Amino acid sequence: MSLVQDILTRKGAQVMTVGPDVNVLDAAQLMNEHKIGALLVVVDQRILGIFTERDVLRRIVAEERAPAQTRVGDVMTNEVVVCKLQTNLDEARGAMKNRRIRHMPVVDDNGILIGLISIGDLNAFDAHNKEVTIHFLEEYIHGRV
Ligand code: AMP
Repeated sequence: MSLVQDILTRKGAQVMTVGPDVNVLDAAQLMNEHKIGALLVVVDQRILGIFTERDVLRRIVAEERAPAQTRVGDVMTNEVVVCKLQTNLDEARGAMKNRRIRHMPVVDDNGILIGLISIGDLNAFDAHNKEVTIHFLEEYIHGRV
């Protein structure tokens, strides 16, 4: 059974964060620069909220707010669904599917942010494991193991 920590070991613990007073224009530019779809909004390593590209579409573009004049803290999602290093990946995938989210921060037992997994990370991890299994089965079928 694979765990969230198996993904973080591979991709590292780096998470892009902003404070709540950052404006949406700067936040969007930061996401583009780093080719990511979400920013964690934190103060003193504590998670205040999450702001994703979906929020730019829904709460900025569709509501005709000015990105440079809008604080991320005013348009982020406040109640953040998190997981732990020991959360198993099926559970993480199920939570993302049920809640229609594509990002989940990873926290330690004190609620401190220690990483982030995305649906893309889960898919890449699954694809890699399947490739390894297929390779093994091919070797087996051809009598090489
Ligand atoms: P996403 O699909 O991750 O871009 O996010 C879709 C919506 O869910 C956006 O409004 C996000 O702010 C929100 N969201 C994303 N991830 C989470 C999360 N882990 N907990 C709560 N809300 C989230």
